[in-house]
Amino acid sequence: MRRVEKLHESLLHLVVETSSNLPPDVRRAMARALRTEDPDTRASQALQVIASNIDMAAGCEGPICQDTGWPTFLVTTPAGADQMMIEDAIRRAIAEATQRGKLRPNSVDSLTGKNTGDNLGPGTPTVHFRQWRHNDEIEVRLLLKGGGCENKNIQYSLPAELPNLGRADRDLDGVRKCLLHAVWQAQGQGCSVGAIGVGVGGDRTSGYEHAKLQLFRTLDDVNPDPRLRELEEYILNTSNALGIGTMGFGGGVTLIGCKIGAINRLPASFFVSVAYDCWAFRRLGAVLDAGTGAIRRWLYKDDAPIEPMAVSEGFARTGKEIPLRAPVSEADIRGLRVGDLVLISGVMYTGRDAVHHHLMRHAPPADLRGQILYHCGPVVLKEGVGWRMTAAGPTTSIREEPYEAEIIGRYGLRAVMGKGGKGPKTLAALQEHGAVYLNAIGGAAQYYARCIEAVEGVDLLEFGLPEAMWRLRVKEFPAIVTMDAHGNSLHADVQNASAGVLKTFATPVFV
Ligand code: SF4
Repeated sequence: MRRVEKLHESLLHLVVETSSNLPPDVRRAMARALRTEDPDTRASQALQVIASNIDMAAGCEGPICQDTGWPTFLVTTPAGADQMMIEDAIRRAIAEATQRGKLRPNSVDSLTGKNTGDNLGPGTPTVHFRQWRHNDEIEVRLLLKGGGCENKNIQYSLPAELPNLGRADRDLDGVRKCLLHAVWQAQGQGCSVGAIGVGVGGDRTSGYEHAKLQLFRTLDDVNPDPRLRELEEYILNTSNALGIGTMGFGGGVTLIGCKIGAINRLPASFFVSVAYDCWAFRRLGAVLDAGTGAIRRWLYKDDAPIEPMAVSEGFARTGKEIPLRAPVSEADIRGLRVGDLVLISGVMYTGRDAVHHHLMRHAPPADLRGQILYHCGPVVLKEGVGWRMTAAGPTTSIREEPYEAEIIGRYGLRAVMGKGGKGPKTLAALQEHGAVYLNAIGGAAQYYARCIEAVEGVDLLEFGLPEAMWRLRVKEFPAIVTMDAHGNSLHADVQNASAGVLKTFATPVFV
């Protein structure tokens, strides 16, 4: 096989493996989280679904999450290697993985929203090149980081006044306050349990880049800088006392990793940049033979066989689960309370950013009265004359906050479902019109794809596959009522309770 073809094959293998199989350090951290939460709690049930999902994805080489993320490659080559040829091979591998349904088409024109369909376009993927001496191998590391957690990244400019924590000065304790605030502000919207990469210093651009590069470290490595090591341990332990938990459902584990790097800064600037990554922490790497393009060895993986994460498929049922079938009556919806676990069977519709935008100006293509609108941008494959969803977890609902209240009222929806919760405007609309917000388990794309019995139709396909409005027939699709028709919001409760805990960490620690 020609070198360029072998290189393409190796890179395709890396992309598919990264999208479908979590690295051992992340698996270990997730297994610890599962052991830590009390069984029968919402956090434990969510982690059980996630564990099943991780096993399913690895078993079928399917995307762990339907948002297969923004690909960032870190490539180190011998001096003089043909970097343009390597970048071409990366782009071909990305396009082929997309065509095979291993990556979702995720690259859209920033102004028109038009999807390129192959994950390629100006700026995508990101490829960083480095060189090394005295090594004739090519090392390729890949991070696939989704939009939900990317949106929870945050950058601080010190000194700053932080909610619940007071003034953060230009010192290590100021950094400590920023990091606690970063975890708190993310709540469950970045699909906690999560990990943070932190860049201290730099300018605004290099600070964020340094933060993201920290995510290429393993969760259990040891920071060589003793001050940063101590801060990493402190943030990991203290964040878990905030009580945010998996998906923001409350619980004892919120963070599975904190990795901090520091670079120099201008005397006038002191940036603390935080890259938040979700539990679907997809990071792998491979060392390639520069002569043949073949994979010599994997990075981040070890030789141990992959142990299944889940004890049983899905979550342990308690008998309190409530069946839900659309069209749902107002009386049935008003009977639901925050904390109820529902199992949806029958029909539901997907709709995310483009559909919400469309519905503000146009009537829906189907009658939505009594229906459930699922915030989801699935991975879909054409099969004969029909379609098959290969990954179908929820997307972040807060993005639709400017539209949702009006859409619920205007079209008579009885439930909207996604992840991370909604704001006060939607909460008021739920109360007024008799509707609920359902929180599905973020990232559980394989698990939810298996709850879909059939794709019954699609409208608005011109928005692209992830943004179209899909009509699905589902069976026992689990979700938790986190905002009900009585003005209750689990998200607001957890946010307020965790703010109370955050306040107790205002006293300086690193002095
Ligand atoms: S697990 Fe959540 S935050 Fe992560 S990529 Fe999937 S939807 Fe996005």
